[in-house]
Amino acid sequence: MNYCPNCGGEVKDKSKYCILCGYDLVKTEIDNSKDERIKELEEKIARLEKTKANPSSQDGTQTNSWMFIMPIFIVAFFFLFIFMIVFITR
Ligand SMILES: [Zn+2]
Repeated sequence: MNYCPNCGGEVKDKSKYCILCGYDLVKTEIDNSKDERIKELEEKIARLEKTKANPSSQDGTQTNSWMFIMPIFIVAFFFLFIFMIVFITR
């Protein structure tokens, strides 16, 4: 059972016009197909926005990897500092 988009009344699936208000349901089917196309486009746009959003998340992973690398750099500079002190004191 379909529902009339104009008056909201129940309409038989194969009926071309709404019994209650005479609304042209064939046109609305075309409109629905247009809506589906629009929905498909909106989904594509949403996917593109997700792919656009991905670089920011990649930046997040980069900052995470940087947060992971940073202590190693600190330790490396610490050992370099110790090596420099040992080298100078000799
Ligand atoms: Zn109707």
